[in-house]
Amino acid sequence: MRKLSYDEMIAAMRTNDARYAGEFYVCVRTTGIYCLPSCKAKLPMLKNVVFLRTREEAIEAGFRGCKRCRSEFYPNVSPPWVETVLAFLRKGVHYKIREQELADHIGVDISTIRRYFKSYMETTPMAYHRKMRLEYAHSLIKTGTDYLTAAFEAGFESSSGFRDAFVKQYGCSPGRINGH
Ligand SMILES: [Zn+2]
Repeated sequence: MRKLSYDEMIAAMRTNDARYAGEFYVCVRTTGIYCLPSCKAKLPMLKNVVFLRTREEAIEAGFRGCKRCRSEFYPNVSPPWVETVLAFLRKGVHYKIREQELADHIGVDISTIRRYFKSYMETTPMAYHRKMRLEYAHSLIKTGTDYLTAAFEAGFESSSGFRDAFVKQYGCSPGRINGH
């Protein structure tokens, strides 16, 4: 890790210099948030700022990621648990997974999972899961399953709820996709 002087870090923060991303984190004591140097959030008062060189140090010191610059997910790589989340949701297309169940299974706070989905997939974990279940039901209907059975198999609790969600996603009612 190359040496950075305090003045250099201040200058990088003041000019929102993106080249310094990942080289240090701007941690603000009053808000408890850590930011990338390029964060466009309001410039904090210097006396409240601590510069830390790694995210691990920032987290260890009790700072939380910033919603604005997404310091938590820099450099835009998926956190290691994302694959596990997706696999769990995929495996669970037969029933409605609860958020708490998901969080417990993954061992990651549900608000962190939600934030990732929002930032990178523009949806919520539950909406994403519902979409997967609809796709599963859709594939069942296509291969000849009647739609009530398909709805049940995909964990929908009511046929009208299933019907509404289906129409919203596919633009036609579930009884119609086989041309009936
Ligand atoms: Zn920020």
